[in-house]
Amino acid sequence: MTRSLTILGATGSIGASTLDLIRREREAWRVEALTAHCSAAQLAELAREFDAKLAVVGDESCLPELREALAGSGIEAAGGAAALCDAAARPIDLTVAAIVGCAGLGPVMQAIERGGTIALANKEALVSAGEVMIAAVAEHGATLLPTDSEHNAIFQCLSGSRIEDVARITLTASGGPFREWDMSAIEAATPEQAVAHPNWSMGAKISVDSATMMNKGLEYIEAHHLFPVGLDRLAIVVHPQSVIHSMVEYRDRSTLAQLGPSDMRVPIASCLAWPARMETPLAPLDLAAMGELTFFAPDEERFPATRIAREAIQAGGAAPAVLNAANEIAVAAFLAGQIAFTRIAAVVEETLQTSNLPPRPQNLDEVLAVDRAGRRQAQTIVETGPRV
Ligand code: NDP
Ligand code: MG
Repeated sequence: MTRSLTILGATGSIGASTLDLIRREREAWRVEALTAHCSAAQLAELAREFDAKLAVVGDESCLPELREALAGSGIEAAGGAAALCDAAARPIDLTVAAIVGCAGLGPVMQAIERGGTIALANKEALVSAGEVMIAAVAEHGATLLPTDSEHNAIFQCLSGSRIEDVARITLTASGGPFREWDMSAIEAATPEQAVAHPNWSMGAKISVDSATMMNKGLEYIEAHHLFPVGLDRLAIVVHPQSVIHSMVEYRDRSTLAQLGPSDMRVPIASCLAWPARMETPLAPLDLAAMGELTFFAPDEERFPATRIAREAIQAGGAAPAVLNAANEIAVAAFLAGQIAFTRIAAVVEETLQTSNLPPRPQNLDEVLAVDRAGRRQAQTIVETGPRV
């Protein structure tokens, strides 16, 4: 039976991993829409290869290039933020949400409001919209399949169990490329060093998030919304080998863990085939060759981001949306050479401390308003604060 899918963020790292799996089972899938921000030529090439009905660039100024690249193909082209939402609203069997940042929130909400099944990689959307998104999922009968490797692991470990029986959920963290660096070296870290992750190959933004540990902070908030066991039952442990992707401990002290290669095609395959299973081209785990798996407590002195994220979700309301907005601005400023690596977490914390936090956003428009205000405040702090 052929299933239909749309990939939001098809030209990125998650998009590429998804399409690699689809390419291997071409007859099993029909591609409705593929989207990008502005990688028009790459998007057109993918749309042609996968015979998509629609290709969309989020940046409308890139639409002429997309149109030209699709000329004669019969594939529909569109551009702009509203066109991304329209693409996400088309009825299909599965939406892969793989846009980076809060820019993906509008399209994800469209897919939810359609009552669709969504493989959610776009964690920033859930961090920003939290309660609004979860309420919409319930209201419209949508299904969220967690694609982030940790949350996919937890989802698998929870299968067949009752959430009331969970004693603790532990997110594993690789610790990133600077795990063993001292403070002065971390302060001087360059964008090239920050995006060179030891275990995972990912887009630039999440690679920097992994290096600051803000990725784990965002994932802590993501886990809180996806698996509501209470913040006191959510833990983080550093596990440099990235073989155990997360764990669920039950009240009888049984702990279930999900293991696998550090390749996003594993959790993506779990979402594509859910609730069944599919083949991936990956080599089996060779635990004997690995020898040992190690675990450490997170060091929040050198990497304060997990503390800042935990405090933001404890504070609740608009704080997580402001945290995410500030982090997006700070990471972009670091990648552009405007601030030192250690300023990323500082900018996020200063933004939270100096923002006039409104009450918890009640709908998408209110979330987006908080996001815009958080970005403005963070931008001011980037421009007026110290570089280091
Ligand atoms: P990439 O940067 O590799 O790709 C991002 C995708 O989103 C691209 O298709 C890009 O288009 C598109 N995009 C970027 N900005 C916008 C915008 N403003 N409007 C519309 N589309 C946009 O990111 P990743 O694939 O690494 O990550 C995607 C999401 O998945 C993130 O939320 C990340 O945290 C999450 N994730 C990623 C993992 C990984 O291994 N990569 C693991 C777990 C989660 P264009 O090419 O035109 O810029
Ligand atoms: Mg992850």
